[in-house]
Amino acid sequence: MSITQPDVDVVIIGLGWTGSIMGLEMTSAGLNVLALERGADRSKEDFLYPKPADELKYGVRLKMMQRPRQSTVTIRRNRQEQAIPQRHWTTFHPGDGVGGAGSHWTGVLYRATPNELALKSFADRTFSPGFLPEDMTIQDYGVSYEELEPHYDFFEKVAGLSGQAGNIQGEMIEGGNPFEGPRKNPFPLPPLPRTLTDTLFTKATQALGWHPYPYPSANVSGAWTNPYGMQLVPATSAAFAATTDASTILRHPHRPARLMHSSNARTSRIGRAVKSHGS
Ligand SMILES: Cc1cc2nc3c(=O)[nH]c(=O)nc-3n(C[C@H](O)[C@H](O)[C@H](O)COP(=O)(O)OP(=O)(O)OC[C@H]3O[C@@H](n4cnc5c(N)ncnc54)[C@H](O)[C@@H]3O)c2cc1C
Repeated sequence: MSITQPDVDVVIIGLGWTGSIMGLEMTSAGLNVLALERGADRSKEDFLYPKPADELKYGVRLKMMQRPRQSTVTIRRNRQEQAIPQRHWTTFHPGDGVGGAGSHWTGVLYRATPNELALKSFADRTFSPGFLPEDMTIQDYGVSYEELEPHYDFFEKVAGLSGQAGNIQGEMIEGGNPFEGPRKNPFPLPPLPRTLTDTLFTKATQALGWHPYPYPSANVSGAWTNPYGMQLVPATSAAFAATTDASTILRHPHRPARLMHSSNARTSRIGRAVKSHGS
């Protein structure tokens, strides 16, 4: 028996970060959107402590993730080998369910630097034209940092990013990432509270003349309402542990497409040491 559904303007297949944002934007523009997601539609209760602490269910049996047997990837190390299925994944855990990989990502959210987006030009300029071998496929992206900046800025507000800016409109800020491209605005939220490990690491690397800074983290450090009107709350953070227990869930009550973001991240506030050498 065939089932005929009412017509819609757009069908989105897969409801991770990408599909969710597209859904929100298109429904805001008045389109009628249907999203098809292969995995479960999880509710806030699924992310409440102590559920995420069930290591066997989530860590070993991959309850929130796509299992290798559901979507096999085959691997061969060279053309002579027969490709065989990968039976066990380590850090590569594709999303499965509303929220996609964003339901279990780490939430460390860097921008690309201006040079990373124009690596070929950077190499030509810094070394010499022709420095890169001709058969090296490296090239500039078709979009510059300056063009992307407003979109980075917007997405950081969507995710409620916590961090310390290192470069606001060309002004270098002590304690931030000295290598980041100029940002128009500071991070939406201040960095996450410091852990003992982080404090010790920061002290030790500063003593070496390095410039540690907090990772930009989508584990919000305070209450935040994002541009879509969604309320985010901080994850529970134990004073001396770098593990967050709870998840941050974004849900929009009034729109058919929903955006869900959570994190079982172990990042907390981890300092990243970089040695500034002026380049
Ligand atoms: C373990 C892990 C840690 C990560 N940590 C970070 C990090 O710290 N910082 C960072 O910036 N990025 C991180 N990432 C990457 C980031 O999470 C992803 O790039 C991002 O979530 C991708 O979003 P997406 O919407 O494009 O795709 P996905 O999240 O993969 O969403 C695709 C959705 O489509 C669904 N789907 C697929 N095929 C079908 C189908 N045929 N029918 C119906 N539905 C379908 C899937 O179930 C899934 O929900 C991490 C990723 C993983 C796996």
